Amino acid sequence: RIAYVNGRYVPHAYAQVHVEDRGYQFSDGVYEVCEVHDGHLVDETRHMARLGRSLKELRIREPMSAKALGHVLRETVRRNRVRNGLVYLQVTRGVAKRDHPFPKDDVPPAVVVTARAIDPKKSAKSAENGISVITVPENRWDRVDIKSVSLLPNVLARQAAEDAGASEAWFVDTDGYVTEGSATNAWIVDQDGRLITRPAEFGILRGITRTVVVDLAAREGVEIVERPFTVEEARKAREAFVTSATKLVMPVVKIDDAVIGNGKPGSIAGKLRELFYTQAEIAP
Ligand code: PMP
Repeated sequence: RIAYVNGRYVPHAYAQVHVEDRGYQFSDGVYEVCEVHDGHLVDETRHMARLGRSLKELRIREPMSAKALGHVLRETVRRNRVRNGLVYLQVTRGVAKRDHPFPKDDVPPAVVVTARAIDPKKSAKSAENGISVITVPENRWDRVDIKSVSLLPNVLARQAAEDAGASEAWFVDTDGYVTEGSATNAWIVDQDGRLITRPAEFGILRGITRTVVVDLAAREGVEIVERPFTVEEARKAREAFVTSATKLVMPVVKIDDAVIGNGKPGSIAGKLRELFYTQAEIAP
């Protein structure tokens, strides 16, 4: 395997960042995960736009143009011979003597890109059976709209899910509303067949997959309501599912101890999953 580290392609085993990288010391950085489908990047334009927004919100300099970054992503995919999988991009504020304030402007941001294959059969198998989720109290900061590498609450939530034999954890705010998953956006289908998902203004990450599914639902004439929903509603929903670049549209068949619908993946989730690539942007 090959990784891109600050301008060089190096063997993965020797890919290293400095001990004083601010990403390492302060989680002072942002990232993107882009799906690779049949050797092509999926929704590169949107991922680059979201990266630009995250960098701007944290006042980290753009390390290079979106076009140049796109080239690095593709080259990393190519060198790793990934046909299906993901490419990971991380930008931190760079290397400087450990001190909380931003370093001077002449410190270049540090860029790392890795890529790895994922067996599409595995994901398809999960989608056939559906996954279980647990709910955990929302305990993250209020800027989760920024895709920062500060993911400790997400890590702990996801481990709690694993410990409970589930695949994902949904964060729930103090009013009982689901915000999102540890690494996915959360959706339900109500008894009238309407799609419900939380508005992406604040309190969640605006998932790229979420945006594509919103567009896809509109195109397919599935009614969609962007509003917060409670755990109680979700437990009684006709369907539930999560979305992310790596899970695409993944049906949820259990929330804590509540079986969703008839315990099998729902038809709307299945249809959205099947049609996903007709709406996503596939790079040449
Ligand atoms: N929410 C969180 C907290 C995430 O980490 C992710 C995955 N990056 C998502 C939602 C889904 O976003 P996307 O569809 O862009 O992968």
